[in-house]
Amino acid sequence: MTLWKEYLHPQSVQQAVEALAFSPAPAIPIAGGTDLMLDLQQGHHPPVHTLVDLTGIPELQALEIRNERLFIGAGVPHHRIVESSLVRQHAASLVESCGLIGGPQVRNAATLGGNVAHALPAADGTIGLLALNAEAEIASLAGRRLLPLHELFAGPGKSTLAHDEIIVGFYIPLRKPGQGSAFCRVMRAQGIALPILNLAVWLERQDEIIRAARIAVGPAGPTPFRALQTSAYLTGKPFCEETILGAQQALLAEAQFRTSPARATAEYRRKLVVVLLKTALLSAWHRASEQ
Ligand SMILES: Cc1cc2nc3c(=O)[nH]c(=O)nc-3n(C[C@H](O)[C@H](O)[C@H](O)COP(=O)(O)OP(=O)(O)OC[C@H]3O[C@@H](n4cnc5c(N)ncnc54)[C@H](O)[C@@H]3O)c2cc1C
Repeated sequence: MTLWKEYLHPQSVQQAVEALAFSPAPAIPIAGGTDLMLDLQQGHHPPVHTLVDLTGIPELQALEIRNERLFIGAGVPHHRIVESSLVRQHAASLVESCGLIGGPQVRNAATLGGNVAHALPAADGTIGLLALNAEAEIASLAGRRLLPLHELFAGPGKSTLAHDEIIVGFYIPLRKPGQGSAFCRVMRAQGIALPILNLAVWLERQDEIIRAARIAVGPAGPTPFRALQTSAYLTGKPFCEETILGAQQALLAEAQFRTSPARATAEYRRKLVVVLLKTALLSAWHRASEQ
């Protein structure tokens, strides 16, 4: 059985969106193929007519400071993110999340854009990026647009991208003094692909006070979850045991955990999330003191 009929190699973003718009349908993008190929082979994705390979597009490989923000092209593989001193300086939670994805072979091929576009609620790179207030640059025949990352997700495995749109890359605010981020997760010992639970924190400190915070958790709902009430609770509070305890209670109150037969019960996730929150808060707070 063939899983596709045509395989195209566009060399630019414009060629890619034209290929998606005008090739025989269904036509979909492929990057590292580490999610898509398995989904096609195992019947979790309906057969496609045209695969549009994004790996030959130089613009999607960029990793640089652009317009006073960190730009990471959607086609950048996880291993480059992990090895980048720029990303380490400005986006520690992303380095930590991408560094835990699969093994070296997967991280060599799999891309950040694929991790996000697959739209799974607990995708590690996605959760690491969500806490950083990233924006995605989207291209289609109509032109380019910027979208807050959380607006890319419509449901489990479902993005808000139209069929002729691709993600070009992600813009992340540069880290300022007093800011820090961290990511942690728990995975089954023999687990592949998705964690039992992951969590990312970004925060800004002023002396001993938390000036602002952002928390992302997966899986804690049908889409990658932003814990807005917990973030609001933390804002303006002194960084101390009592505040961490209050934040743990706030997170338990707003996050919706469910039991997934292959991974963990909801009850176990509720026990884990308070530990992950404290660990990530301490790490981000410590980093916020570094230059
Ligand atoms: C052994 C193994 C272990 C893994 N471990 C983990 C793990 O620990 N944590 C984790 O989060 N994931 C894990 N994964 C899943 C996977 O590797 C990641 O989600 C990866 O980042 C997907 O990227 P890709 O380039 O391979 O995407 P692809 O498989 O090429 O594409 C995935 C989806 O995104 C779409 N797409 C790709 N690029 C774009 C773009 N630029 N614009 C629009 N749509 C696009 C494709 O059409 C497809 O629907 C694992 C996978 C394997 C096989």
